[in-house]
Amino acid sequence: MTRMHNTAPPAAAGQADAVVVGAGLAGLLAAHVLARRHQVTLLDSDQILTTPTTRSGVPQGRHVHALFAQGLRTVEALLPGFTDELCRRGGHRIDVCKDLAIATPHGWGTRFPSDLRVVGASRPLIEAVIRDRVLDNPRIRLLQRHRADSVTGTEHHVNAVITRNLDTGRTTALPTCLVVDASGRGSRLPNWLAELGCPPLPETTVDAHIGYATRLYRLPEDPRDWRALYALPSGPAITRGGVLAPIEGNRWIASLSGTGTDRPTPRQDSFLPFARSLATPAIADVLADATPLSDVACSHSTANRRRHLDQAQQLPDNLLVLGDAACALNPLYAQGMTVAARSAVLLDTCLASGAGTHRFHHRQKKLHDTPWLLATTADLRLPGSTGGPPTRYQQTLGRYLDRVLAAGTHDPHPQAAFLSVLNMVRPPATLLAPRVALSAMRTRPPGPSLTAPPPAPTT
Ligand SMILES: Cc1cc2nc3c(=O)[nH]c(=O)nc-3n(C[C@H](O)[C@H](O)[C@H](O)COP(=O)(O)OP(=O)(O)OC[C@H]3O[C@@H](n4cnc5c(N)ncnc54)[C@H](O)[C@@H]3O)c2cc1C
Repeated sequence: MTRMHNTAPPAAAGQADAVVVGAGLAGLLAAHVLARRHQVTLLDSDQILTTPTTRSGVPQGRHVHALFAQGLRTVEALLPGFTDELCRRGGHRIDVCKDLAIATPHGWGTRFPSDLRVVGASRPLIEAVIRDRVLDNPRIRLLQRHRADSVTGTEHHVNAVITRNLDTGRTTALPTCLVVDASGRGSRLPNWLAELGCPPLPETTVDAHIGYATRLYRLPEDPRDWRALYALPSGPAITRGGVLAPIEGNRWIASLSGTGTDRPTPRQDSFLPFARSLATPAIADVLADATPLSDVACSHSTANRRRHLDQAQQLPDNLLVLGDAACALNPLYAQGMTVAARSAVLLDTCLASGAGTHRFHHRQKKLHDTPWLLATTADLRLPGSTGGPPTRYQQTLGRYLDRVLAAGTHDPHPQAAFLSVLNMVRPPATLLAPRVALSAMRTRPPGPSLTAPPPAPTT
């Protein structure tokens, strides 16, 4: 039977809760840390089922969602036992350096054991495991099917969030001491700020016009020495990419991507041919013998968009913005959930030290800088990208990253450095370590051919 989370009763009269708009990854984790100091009302326009299900407020939930190593560690630190619970409910433990076979433009990356661990699971399951833990807290009440329409107050301070009950149509003003906008890419923040009389926020958008297409499969029980395949796009010659990864329920998720007019379509009969057109046939070879379990879902919401909250001329002193509402990243580099989790930790730190919202947004900007740089540097190399041109630094970084990837097809050191930076467990300076830089500068023949299966990992 389908079960739903209970919609909690309204707060007691006169009580001003912290209000979090959006019960996605960012909102749930923000509510969790806020509840250490406040009563929290978590609003979501969706009906949220207790079983892991895709829902209309999180359409990206149908696509592959890799919670990278730093994200996994961060959520684990916030919610101890999270990783075990995710695996207990069907997630698969994956060693990023050993179990993930990566097709780079220069050949297959080397594979070797490491401590970079992730869990293969669907986005609905990741969210459900987090949600179950967060909503166990009696200081957090979830108001589902409640959309935040606007906020009231002045440009200096918000005093209420206006919510609409989507079943009855009734609107209510929820008094609040603190508002967190975690409503994702579709956030109405610019309208809210305009209504309060705040000047518009500066924003930057870099868009490679990438489209995703995703399908679920059952794979035959063949022996294989990898647990996931990742074909990297890399402009300007190779713009198509793909991922094949295990998720709960003994299923596999295949997501394909392309840019501009070369995006994959929802047609079922086009999915396998598109997979076949990648730089490696490895994903298509596996899918050719697999049983499709779903139709093809598409998404084009992939632009990098950053709101410069740290540069706001005027923001209410009790309004915070995090998750995709603050900084949305091209999902190809799988950074969004990790960034959201890190913002929740930052929020906790700021609340503990009494830092205000201005300080939070300044520190959050620093947290966004590296993922933003990596995503936009790669995207601006793809033909047809808008929001450029790349800076001189990005051009140099792009060329250097290319050399690191090429070196990683022969040498585990640059490969480990690249993956630890991508997984956000090491800073980008790791790529300049002498062992990595020397390897990146050496000229070598191309790595293991992508037309052959991925090479076995070393032990
Ligand atoms: C195709 C695709 C693939 C992705 N793959 C990855 C990946 O592999 N790895 C990764 O780390 N990240 C990935 N991401 C990014 C990831 O989905 C987000 O970064 C992450 O979910 C954090 O988002 P959020 O909580 O800010 O917003 P969301 O998860 O989008 O949640 C927003 C919530 O707000 C609610 N809401 C919206 N407006 C209102 C309102 N007015 N009132 C009340 N509720 C509202 C919605 O119903 C929803 O529940 C991917 C994104 C896309 C588009």
